[in-house]
Amino acid sequence: MMALKDDFKYKPSYTIKSLSLKETSFDNETLRISTEISSDVTIQLSKSNDLTKFRELWWIQGNIHPKAHWEEASLPYLLKSNVDWKKYTERTDFFNVHGSWEWIDGSVYVYELPLGPHETCSRAIDREIYLKDPERILVSLGSTRTRAGSMGKEADGSFIPKRKSNVNSNGREGPYSHKPWPNLAIEVAFSETEEHLLNVVKNYWLYPGRAHDAIAVKLVQFDKIISIIKVWHFCTDNRTPMRELVPVTEFEFRTIDDNDQILIEPQQYMINIKIECLFHGMPSTSQTSPSTSQTPSSITNPLTIDFYDVLLSMEEEFRLS
Ligand SMILES: [Zn+2]
Repeated sequence: MMALKDDFKYKPSYTIKSLSLKETSFDNETLRISTEISSDVTIQLSKSNDLTKFRELWWIQGNIHPKAHWEEASLPYLLKSNVDWKKYTERTDFFNVHGSWEWIDGSVYVYELPLGPHETCSRAIDREIYLKDPERILVSLGSTRTRAGSMGKEADGSFIPKRKSNVNSNGREGPYSHKPWPNLAIEVAFSETEEHLLNVVKNYWLYPGRAHDAIAVKLVQFDKIISIIKVWHFCTDNRTPMRELVPVTEFEFRTIDDNDQILIEPQQYMINIKIECLFHGMPSTSQTSPSTSQTPSSITNPLTIDFYDVLLSMEEEFRLS
């Protein structure tokens, strides 16, 4: 994996020519993938205990096989090389892989394992946002797939204002896409490293022209307990004079004590996202009236996410065994 770091570029290269993203019916795809699955995988496996073979089943069958021992894999894990975008999108849709894989220069890497706490934390943050938006003006794109140049990935969660206008190019599905990027991206790392988490947030989601704000959460495990949670909130406007992104808010806290009591108080650890950021790119937040004439009155400004509430929603997930 040493080579990966050096090659790891998020900057979009707008030179991809032959995409051939033809529409194909789901039934045909289902048939074709099923046919591939029923190849001789099982026979090969009976002859070999090779971890690599079992891990490859995630790609081939969507199967997270117990003998693959993913919990012991060192991430990022190169799952498959020579994969074009079309094939990558087929597999992630067909196997419902959300936020675990990334497509980088034609290879598929595993960056996160779909384990309980990772999923619960993502859903808990989504839920806090829903609760603050009674009229559902922010649309959850969930872990919708995005693409920029030779890189593609899914957020753990993402939100966009209803009826945000299309863009001319470089939308969220690639160089020729007109679909706007989400305003807010949420990334939770459990198996994933903190370094990669922050790299993705700063250089992928908050690359100019993409999301406006991003929340990054790192779940830190000690002795089978998620004992520390680290949180960062970035806004693309919050930069040093050298244009480097710095967090608007950053904190970390211990989760539970030996008696499973939550160790933080309500309103002790909160992030505040400005409505102007969540509705950036909407027509009437223009230069003439920067005071956001059309931002909704149904959402309190700023939208606050209290991590005490997030912890409450995660309560059953802190102990891993
Ligand atoms: Zn912002």
